[in-house]
Amino acid sequence: MISIKTSAEIEKMVVSGRVLAEILQAVQGRVRPGVSTRELDQLAYRLCVDRKVKPAFKGYHGFPYSLCVSVNEEVVHGFPSERRLAEGDIVSLDFGVYRDGYFSDAALTLAVGAVSPQASALIRVTREALFAGLAQVKAGNRLGDVSAAVQERVEAGGYSVVRHFVGHGIGRALHEDPQIPNFGEPGRGPVLKAGMVLAIEPMVNAGGFEVEILSDGWTAVTRDRSLSAHFEHTVAVTENGCRILSQPDSDHPLF
Ligand code: MG
Repeated sequence: MISIKTSAEIEKMVVSGRVLAEILQAVQGRVRPGVSTRELDQLAYRLCVDRKVKPAFKGYHGFPYSLCVSVNEEVVHGFPSERRLAEGDIVSLDFGVYRDGYFSDAALTLAVGAVSPQASALIRVTREALFAGLAQVKAGNRLGDVSAAVQERVEAGGYSVVRHFVGHGIGRALHEDPQIPNFGEPGRGPVLKAGMVLAIEPMVNAGGFEVEILSDGWTAVTRDRSLSAHFEHTVAVTENGCRILSQPDSDHPLF
């Protein structure tokens, strides 16, 4: 069952998404060669305390941290650690907050200092794939229209869409119906209705689509150890298109 949020609920999710985006922007500002991924997690946690929100991932099915930090061939769910980011790395930050009964969820991939042209193209195409999907989010379209648009942009760039993880509905729970694959066929799947709220999140590998999970039980890496990138927004379906909820209250979008 895909829940339809009232406008009052969506306004609460706007606030949840705003706090999320502002914290993620602050963490983004700290990304540079030499910073440890644990410092990024600690900053995210501290800002949650300051802003009186809960980090959505901490404790979720036992995930031990506030922030998922996935470096290079890590796809998603990377553990923050003493590892220091190095010039040329790419790093994906995935973060969620819970505020006043509602979750929000967003992710982005950043270049650490100067990166290879291949790494920067992967980041650019993954971001474009998310926006290609968002362009299909409006009442009356089908979920498959969104999935197919993401897949088309990714594969036109010569990359692979991860199959093992998908986007999701979001609201009173972090993961609600529907599942939102980043591959599919136009005209298939549930019809989108105004008031649905979706977390759309292409995960894109430079090589093959296969992933494996490391022995920590969480960190997903590309099987061929190629680079991987990830972008995600929480968005509401409207009659005319999509409204991005994971945005700061400023002129500078999250990405
Ligand atoms: Mg998500």
